[in-house]
Amino acid sequence: MDLRYSSAAEKFRREIRRWLAESVPAEWRRPGFWIGLDGGDESVDLRRRWERSRFENGFAGVDWPVEFGGRGADQEFRAVHDEEMARARAPIGPFLGLTYLGTTLLGPTLLRYGTEEQKRRLLPSILSGATIWCQGFSEPESGSDLASLSTTARRDGDDLVVSGQKVWTSMAGVADALFALVRTDPAAERHRGITFLLIDLTLPGVEVRPIRQMSGSWEFGQEFLDDVRVPVSGNVVGRIDDGWTVAGYLLSVERNASPVSHYAEFRHELDDVVAAAKVIRKDGRPAVEHPSIRAGIARCRADLELLRVRGYHTMTRVARGEDLGAEASVTKLLWSRTRLAIADLGADVLAAGGQRGAGEAFAHLRWRHLHVRGQRIAGGTAQIQRTIVARQLLDLPR
Ligand SMILES: Cc1cc2nc3c(=O)[nH]c(=O)nc-3n(C[C@H](O)[C@H](O)[C@H](O)COP(=O)(O)OP(=O)(O)OC[C@H]3O[C@@H](n4cnc5c(N)ncnc54)[C@H](O)[C@@H]3O)c2cc1C
Repeated sequence: MDLRYSSAAEKFRREIRRWLAESVPAEWRRPGFWIGLDGGDESVDLRRRWERSRFENGFAGVDWPVEFGGRGADQEFRAVHDEEMARARAPIGPFLGLTYLGTTLLGPTLLRYGTEEQKRRLLPSILSGATIWCQGFSEPESGSDLASLSTTARRDGDDLVVSGQKVWTSMAGVADALFALVRTDPAAERHRGITFLLIDLTLPGVEVRPIRQMSGSWEFGQEFLDDVRVPVSGNVVGRIDDGWTVAGYLLSVERNASPVSHYAEFRHELDDVVAAAKVIRKDGRPAVEHPSIRAGIARCRADLELLRVRGYHTMTRVARGEDLGAEASVTKLLWSRTRLAIADLGADVLAAGGQRGAGEAFAHLRWRHLHVRGQRIAGGTAQIQRTIVARQLLDLPR
């Protein structure tokens, strides 16, 4: 087995690395820079402009078809792209990436289920960041049991009239549009009668309210939809009443979310923890010299390597055109567990230093400790993923 990238991919790596060195200012790389901006206008404006520039320079949608604004490259180039973005600490990923939900979830879904018209109209604007998307699946009474959702969309002439509430929506505060699941046939069996609908958040009847998380992060929100008229034409993905099929594909893409880029990103997070453990002292010695911290670092490094190899495995399967299906749940469990372990180790290092770990220099470790807890829940909880693995991969008895 040869785990090296091809020379063409390595050439691409040099190209993207050069661009990132010029386009990502040094201060963006400082841990805690974005947390300090607190998601305000300045933060959004900087990231919007950067996304636009990424698109114009040909580094958005590396593995998307050229006709829709992508680069037309393969999974290998995509992996190199993800690694370099993480290495440069560029503002991508589910927390900072304004185009993240559009490019990782909606885009692949449109490529599979969208009409030609939808692909031409929507995909380039996803990549350029002209339209920021968020995901409206969860409701106050529907999360794990998503098929119980009750936001309704009744047909009236050429429109669907939507009423209900969506909640826990990442990026709601900055998004222009929502891809949502709505119930179009209340009489149908639970998994039927649901439609995958694109909703412009500026339409009359939409109200978006922010929700602050315990880490203080700002990107969450909820949407109240009160008789919102959405034209059927161009806004239904797949067929009316068959949104469950479309959503199933999108969720498997979400759970799988590029293990290669996760590896690169989490590696930085572990580096931050190790750097702090060298500075913070316990009993007169740097925390990094204490056996429990050393063991924690070793465990996280081992988990990271597992994630990296998993990433190559996934990449190979996708490159072969294979459907990952329930295997995506294994990846989700692996990356969320790894990230949590790194964040917990950071908290152990801070605790080892007592008051010495409390300063501003380590605010990013405290923030991460609180923030990453939600990753075990987002995109389907760990318990639900284990059930999927047990039933669909291991064929265990119910
Ligand atoms: C950081 C973050 C970002 C999110 N972003 C989005 C977003 O952008 N868009 C969106 O639509 N949603 C989003 N969500 C919502 C997320 O998808 C839901 O929170 C999740 O699916 C769980 O649903 P729930 O909160 O209703 O919990 P519930 O479904 O009520 O679950 C509560 C607890 O019961 C357990 N449980 C439930 N059913 C079972 C079962 N059958 N077997 C075993 N245990 C079970 C769960 O594992 C959990 O521990 C986000 C959540 C988080 C934390």
